[in-house]
Amino acid sequence: MKNKPVILLNIDSLMTYPLEIAIQTGRAPALQFLKENGTYFNNMVSSFPTMSVTIDSSLLTGTYADQHHISGLSWFDTSKKEIVNYGTGFRETFRLGTRRSIHNMLYRLNNEHLSSNVSTIFEELANRDIPSASINSFVYRGNTPKKLKVPGLFKTLTHFKDGEWIMEAPPVLSLGAFSKLKPLNFTFQVAAGNNKYAARELIYLIRKNRLPAFAFCTFQDLDFRIHLKGPLDIKGITRIDKQLQKILNVYSSWDEALRKNIWLIMGDNGHSATHTKYKESVIDLVKLFKQYRIAKLERPIHRKDQFVFCVNQRMSYIYILDAMLEETKIVDRLKRDKRIDVIAWKEENWIRVESPLKHGSLHYRPSEEVLDEYDQGWKVRGEMDILDLRMNRDGKIAYGDFPDALARLYGALHAQPGRFIVVNAKPGHEFKAQLTPYHLSGAAHGSLHRQESLVPLIIAGTNEKPVFPRMIDLKEYILRLI
Ligand SMILES: [Zn+2]
Repeated sequence: MKNKPVILLNIDSLMTYPLEIAIQTGRAPALQFLKENGTYFNNMVSSFPTMSVTIDSSLLTGTYADQHHISGLSWFDTSKKEIVNYGTGFRETFRLGTRRSIHNMLYRLNNEHLSSNVSTIFEELANRDIPSASINSFVYRGNTPKKLKVPGLFKTLTHFKDGEWIMEAPPVLSLGAFSKLKPLNFTFQVAAGNNKYAARELIYLIRKNRLPAFAFCTFQDLDFRIHLKGPLDIKGITRIDKQLQKILNVYSSWDEALRKNIWLIMGDNGHSATHTKYKESVIDLVKLFKQYRIAKLERPIHRKDQFVFCVNQRMSYIYILDAMLEETKIVDRLKRDKRIDVIAWKEENWIRVESPLKHGSLHYRPSEEVLDEYDQGWKVRGEMDILDLRMNRDGKIAYGDFPDALARLYGALHAQPGRFIVVNAKPGHEFKAQLTPYHLSGAAHGSLHRQESLVPLIIAGTNEKPVFPRMIDLKEYILRLI
């Protein structure tokens, strides 16, 4: 280890505008201190779909979904013909079976779904004999066997054998009631603690001198508030800032905290405010395709099922099971709904993108022909306007409303084999299929749009910067810092 320990604080749903307002009105002194004594990015690009498990997987492996294979909070395993759901909402989770969701979220995500061809920051560090810690993250694959203890209440609900599960994890793992660091730390939430719990776990590590070279700590409560209250909520930021103050106060001074550690503070996804009227807000896919036979969540796939919808709030996967059904037929139906802004699918060796709001179509694929602003190579044909692409002065593709859209869409469309379509809702709207939760007059995320794709990043305690302000560039950056 050549440098000081890196602490990465992932504040779920921390967004640029409310963060800046909270700081400038004196309601977030800790974040203000870190921002003013560090480097600030207001536009770090998240992953796609903009859902926590996909984002954490991208952050920790430095890849998009085509490589890490976590397609979203809800996706369809085309090889096993099985809907995978990590818990998109209580009602849907209940119907799928709580047992299955917890098993999916805590065990299968890390053990089965997260591709073995990619490595997490925890694994890379372990290979170099450098310890690391994960607090409150559902993506935590490492190299150290860890026993997860199931709380009594859940023993009957889950498939834990003898109330225990062995997982490969970082040497230091905190996961709510399943695995905690501070002996008497209490959490109401079963699988991850709230922001106070997360802060107490981190403070415990700092106080006990057990802080490893890299600690990843997720603060989970802001997201829930913003879904209800809308994207401009500031109170949630103030509450989390109080916890950050407590963490900084463990040091003899806040300056000392910067001398001792590198602090990275980031949001994971933004939110798009949702319409106030149900009829306008919610795009009901089951209704849109009512003449077809659609797979039902609560039963196994039937051989006559033609589609599976896996909704991730403002984006949805539409998996096509019926071999006779053409993608273009489905796309034509989707294109009649002006609340949709991007429709994409694989066509031979290309990705084809269309929009109900724009004419024509866009085709693209990886190639050396032209670079984009992140130095990724593409061949692009057709209407660039569909993804709001333009050529900048040095002849590179630049992104507008859909940051890093070519690579992120490519990632989602290659996360699984098989035939499927990716649809994105225009800001203000979200998808629904069966019992997926929706958020009237609140906020939602999931889509490719910049509203939920650009997040803030504060770096304090070092002058080093990532190559590009993108989540997938943080892994290389963090390994460089350590
Ligand atoms: Zn959310």
